[in-house]
Amino acid sequence: MDAIVALCKRRGFIYPSSELYGGINGFWDYGPLGCELKRNVRESWWRTMVRCREDVEGLDATIIMHPAIWKASGHAEGFADPMVDCKACRHRFRADQLCEELGLVLVRTEKGFALPEGAACTHCGSKELTEPRAFNLMFKTFVGPVEDEHAVAYLRPETAQAIFAQFKNILDTSRQSVPFGVAQMGKSFRNEINPRNFTFRSREFEQMELEYFIRPDEAVELIYGTVEALTPGTDLAAPRDNWGWEVWHKYWVEQRKAWYR
Ligand SMILES: [Zn+2]
Repeated sequence: MDAIVALCKRRGFIYPSSELYGGINGFWDYGPLGCELKRNVRESWWRTMVRCREDVEGLDATIIMHPAIWKASGHAEGFADPMVDCKACRHRFRADQLCEELGLVLVRTEKGFALPEGAACTHCGSKELTEPRAFNLMFKTFVGPVEDEHAVAYLRPETAQAIFAQFKNILDTSRQSVPFGVAQMGKSFRNEINPRNFTFRSREFEQMELEYFIRPDEAVELIYGTVEALTPGTDLAAPRDNWGWEVWHKYWVEQRKAWYR
């Protein structure tokens, strides 16, 4: 990984963010070649996914949205990673990653998580670790001049939520009816406890997401009389009215794989 990071920097693809001031963990800048490469990927995705399709619309929503959206989606409560601290050397870990490194499995409990027998700090070897506690990954900020709980807002941790929140507006103002999709690309933010693996787990990153809305199988059966189930011989070339959800899912998996190739 270090060799790739060094190569990307040397060739002008990716630099550590704020490197002049010592860098900031989990943030990366795209240099002259990197930003062109990224732009090409974005444009190819948008062209294939939105422009060349009759059944997908685009959306470009804000990064900060009403905090109620994140309550409704479950992110305010549940979008958390279990975190543990070493009491001896103060090192902080993501509990699941620590267990993985030790060849152990994090224990699920009614309240959340517990460390398995034999867990120890991989930094100093101490077994004095705190219990895993939930750490919400959403970046918090305040909207307006008063920094109190009523002004709390979050930087979006994914681009999908705005698609759900604007679904009705898009349905009403486009010429679409289900089945159809809405795509969005843009910045998302996750306050990772332990950013690593270069740009694969960073705190600010670009996402490209499609939400594709289909009828439930029961409705397909009522309207078309049959529901096509997925078989090894299912023809996935073009969507058909009576596709069940499994066929739709397989179709999109194949569409994505074809794009990556
Ligand atoms: Zn330690």
